[in-house]
Amino acid sequence: MRLDAKALRYMSSDDFRVLTAIEVGSRNHDIVPAPLIAQLSHIRGGGVNRYIGDLIKRKLIASETNSKYVGYKLIYAGYDYLALKTLSKRGTVTSVGNQIGVGKESDIFVVAGEDEEQVVLKVHRLGRQSFRNVKNKRDYFRQDQSPSWMYMSRLSAMKEFAFMKVLYEHGFPVPKPIDQNRHVVVMGLVDAFPLRQITEVGEPGKLYSTLMDLIVRLAKHGLIHGDFNEFNILLQENGEPVLIDFPQMVSTSHPNAEYYFNRDVDCIRTFFKRRFNYESVLYPKFRLDADKDFNLDVQVAASGFTKKDQAQLEKYQEDVGANQNEGETRSDYYDSHEDVSDEEFVYSGDEAGSEEDEGEPSTKGKETADSGDGDDES
Ligand code: ADP
Ligand code: MG
Repeated sequence: MRLDAKALRYMSSDDFRVLTAIEVGSRNHDIVPAPLIAQLSHIRGGGVNRYIGDLIKRKLIASETNSKYVGYKLIYAGYDYLALKTLSKRGTVTSVGNQIGVGKESDIFVVAGEDEEQVVLKVHRLGRQSFRNVKNKRDYFRQDQSPSWMYMSRLSAMKEFAFMKVLYEHGFPVPKPIDQNRHVVVMGLVDAFPLRQITEVGEPGKLYSTLMDLIVRLAKHGLIHGDFNEFNILLQENGEPVLIDFPQMVSTSHPNAEYYFNRDVDCIRTFFKRRFNYESVLYPKFRLDADKDFNLDVQVAASGFTKKDQAQLEKYQEDVGANQNEGETRSDYYDSHEDVSDEEFVYSGDEAGSEEDEGEPSTKGKETADSGDGDDES
């Protein structure tokens, strides 16, 4: 999946209004009928149809017919557009660059940030493939709606950002959290390679202890990474690891905490044995009473990613098997490059009009495309 820089460049403010109207309308409608789009976008007369046609041509929205009417819905490119537009207005993303990774449920880009420095853009794409496996699709339908990939992707990004922030603030080796909007997280670029690509390290025993200490330190802060493996550990030149990828983190008070904790530990043991032929009799064991220094999961909840959000995302992850171990379930980006575009995209911010959107459209109060910065989906 690409970020369509062309769409970003040639968008009028009316197109933008219409796109935003469809996003707002989607909160209550599986597919949004044209009259509602007209109303939400304040575009009168038949005018709105022209914009709709245009957005379809650019593959930012799609039309669909249900039993009652023809309506329109956002597709990923349209949602990408809205997020990028917001980030670029905030100044945290100033151009769109190269794609460096295609994950199971994300696309990773290196882009230019506020001071032209390189930053990483992680676009969460839940539902790209996994809704097919969801056992009970109804849970993701809001009354006659299709599974809300938009909502789940956004939750995932919110969670990642919330955890990254709390971890960063407590001195954990994680990328610098920069910004988040909708399904997109902006973070510092780590100059390092995934452990997966490292064939030799000077002292495997030292790295092994560092990683196990990290698992223990997380647990002492009330957290388990949940996907602590060679894909999500980046190794810097100085030998220090940086941990990434947080959508599946769980609290040590989670009912399956011990299982997740042991799985993280086992991942490292297995990898070290296989890759470096290193084995140790020492490895951490889960103790619920591990004298907790902090309760970071509580701090995360306080940051706006609520327990309810967490529960909802966890349910989805369980249903699609997204909490299986990454190493076993996904192809490595570096083994298969097909999907990775090396085309260079440039997004020069402001051609698309200006007055709208500082955040996500608010759903509070009456529906309107004049967005506030609300972030509530409920
Ligand atoms: P996924 O959820 O798809 O596994 P990750 O967050 O693990 O996504 O990122 C996928 C890959 O992108 C990583 O293995 C790493 O190579 C690269 N990557 C992600 N974030 C960063 C970052 N902040 N700095 C450098 N590389 C990164
Ligand atoms: Mg990963």
